[in-house]
Amino acid sequence: MSDSEFDIIRRYFMRQLPDRKDVITGIGDDAALLRVPAGVELVVCVDTLVEGVHFPAGTAAAAVGHKALAVNLSDLAAMGAEPAWVTLAMTLPAPDADWLDGFCRGFFKLADRFGVQLVGGDTTQGPLSITVQAHGFVPQGKALQRRGAQPGDHIYVTGSLGDAGVALLLGSDAAEALQQRLDFPEPRLAAGQALRGIASAAIDISDGLLADLGHLLAHGQLGASVSVDDVPTSAAFNAALQQGHDLTRLRDLPLAAGDDYELCFTLPEALLGQLDTVRPDFSCPCTRIGTVERPAGIRCYTADGDVYAADARGYEHFGVSPHG
Ligand code: ADP
Ligand code: MG
Repeated sequence: MSDSEFDIIRRYFMRQLPDRKDVITGIGDDAALLRVPAGVELVVCVDTLVEGVHFPAGTAAAAVGHKALAVNLSDLAAMGAEPAWVTLAMTLPAPDADWLDGFCRGFFKLADRFGVQLVGGDTTQGPLSITVQAHGFVPQGKALQRRGAQPGDHIYVTGSLGDAGVALLLGSDAAEALQQRLDFPEPRLAAGQALRGIASAAIDISDGLLADLGHLLAHGQLGASVSVDDVPTSAAFNAALQQGHDLTRLRDLPLAAGDDYELCFTLPEALLGQLDTVRPDFSCPCTRIGTVERPAGIRCYTADGDVYAADARGYEHFGVSPHG
């Protein structure tokens, strides 16, 4: 490791904060030494963001820092996990102090909100790419998984869908609220944790509702009916539709576009009352959009009961690269 690499690590990533109690050794040794509490299972995920592939070149550094962590916390949320530790592997074209300041602002603001500690990483030179690995805990046997849905289960999504997709599509024409959703996605950790023992299956929506719901259903050769008019959209999304932007391209975004990082989960009919009990803990809305059924395949309907042929090719359709 060169002096300049070590300077970067010391200056930006070693913070003078009290460690989490379960961190025996964090940054500074050959590896982090961590204590997994008794009675929990360790949940681990990793995601890489490459400039020009997963975020447009020129994206604000704070947004890159936030998003690199948020997409991983969203995966933990979908498992019902409570986040604990992260590692960060960065490839940087050059040590740019302003960019690193912005990156750390976005990254640590989100980490601190959820009590997550950065415990190690790697710093190298090359084309801009950020890899975050996240570690969290779930009580033994209580993780939410993609498998587990049954015919008759109700299908729900948190928050609203389509904002990030419309921001990508409109670029600099997108309203500020839409751009915020793309740049600063909110991992639905409270909802994921509250749904432990209630949801029969869960997934986070990174590639588009129909694609990700499809992954969830694939575990049981299941299908679904989805009421497209019930899929929740934000006021900012509805305003973009009304501003005369190309309707046919925008209409399917809540079904097909990714990057919203909401949760999609299934719920047995018998547990509807339990959902009502935990809903106030979500800190976001949650909307029923359909039902799990057989045969396989997702069938979309309008409020009038007509079949709706959604164009669900997701990202490819909108000319943006899919997530790896
Ligand atoms: P080694 O050569 O043994 O792999 P490094 O010199 O790469 O160790 O890293 C030194 C220490 O700094 C390690 O504890 C490593 O985890 C940490 N580290 C390196 N880069 C980062 C980073 N971007 N963020 C957080 N910690 C980092
Ligand atoms: Mg190293």
